[in-house]
Amino acid sequence: RAKESGRNRWTVFDASMRDAVRERVEIEVALRAAVAQEQLSIAYQPIVAMDTGRPAGAEALCRWQHPVRGWIGPNMFIAVAEDSNLISALGAWVLRESLLQLARWRAGGVVDDDFWMSVNVSPRQLGDPAFAERLGRTLRQTGVPAANLVLEITESVMVEGSDLTERVLVELRALGVRISVDDFGTGFSALGYLRRHPVTGVKIDRSFVNGLGTSAEDEEIVRAVVAMSSALHLAVVAEGVETEAQRDVLLALGVPLAQGWLWGRAVDPDAFAAAWAVRVALPAAAPSD
Ligand code: C2E
Ligand code: MG
Ligand code: MG
Ligand code: MG
Repeated sequence: RAKESGRNRWTVFDASMRDAVRERVEIEVALRAAVAQEQLSIAYQPIVAMDTGRPAGAEALCRWQHPVRGWIGPNMFIAVAEDSNLISALGAWVLRESLLQLARWRAGGVVDDDFWMSVNVSPRQLGDPAFAERLGRTLRQTGVPAANLVLEITESVMVEGSDLTERVLVELRALGVRISVDDFGTGFSALGYLRRHPVTGVKIDRSFVNGLGTSAEDEEIVRAVVAMSSALHLAVVAEGVETEAQRDVLLALGVPLAQGWLWGRAVDPDAFAAAWAVRVALPAAAPSD
C-alpha cells in the first residue's frame, strides 16, 4: 500500500514537473516573440524626495501583456529571460525605451533637468564585455546625460561577479552612469562589498521598510544602512513605502528618497506625466509694467 501511494505520488509529481517544464518552454517561446514584436511595455514608478513630495526620478518596470494569458508580471518572465539568454535583447530594449521616454519628458518640460531614470539590469547583461560601450551609444543617440541614468544591480553582482562584470561596472562609472544596489540587505553582501565595488547608492529592500513603525529591529537595520551609506557617500532610496508611519520613520532616520504605493504605483508614461509633471503648461504671462 505504501509502495502504491508512493508510486502514485511520483506519478503526480512527474506530471506536474512536466507541466512546469512545458509552461516554461511556452513562456520562453512567447517571450521571444514578444521581445521581437515589441509586445512589452514599461511602467514608471516615481522615486520621491520625501521632504518636498516631488519626484526625483522614476524606476522603469517591465510589463508584458500576453495575448492569451493576459498580464504577466516581471517576477515570472525576467527569470525565464535570464535562463534563456533573452535577457540581453529584453534588457537592451528596456534601456533604449526608457531613455527615449526620459528624453521626451525632458524635452516636454515634464521633468526637471536632474530627474533620473532607474533601470534594472540583470547580472547576465553585465557579463557582456560590450555592455558599457553599447549603453554609451544609446545615451548619445537618445541625448540623455549619463548622470541621469541609474542602473539597479543585484547584490549578487557584487558577491558573485567576475573580473569581467567588475570591469563593466568600472566602465559604466567612467561613462558617468550611476549604479545602485537593489533590494539591499537581502543578498548576503557585507559593508566591504560596497567599498570595493564602484556603486553610488543602495535601495533598502521592502522587507526592512515593511516593519518600520512596528519593528524596532527593522528600524535599527535601516539606521545602520543609513550610517554606513553616509560614511561611504552612497545615495539611499527606501523601497516599498506604503504607509505614512513608514515614511515618518524614514524621514526621522534621515532617508531622503523613497518609492512606494504611498505615492504611486508603476503606471504607463501618460499617466505618469499627468500625475507628476513639474511644469504645467501655462499661458504666456503678460509683461508687467
Ligand atoms: P525591483 O527592481 O525591486 O522593483 C520594485 C518592485 O516592487 C516592483 O515590482 C514594484 O512594482 C514593486 N513595488 C513598488 N512599490 C511597492 C510598494 O509600496 N509595495 C509593494 N508591495 N510593492 C511595491 P514589479 O514591477 O513586479 O517588478 C518585480 C521585479 O522584477 C523588480 O523588482 C525587478 O527585480 C524585476 N524587473 C522589473 N523590470 C525589469 C527589467 O526591465 N529588467 C530586469 N532585469 N528586471 C526587471
Ligand atoms: Mg529595481
Ligand atoms: Mg528593488
Ligand atoms: Mg525589491
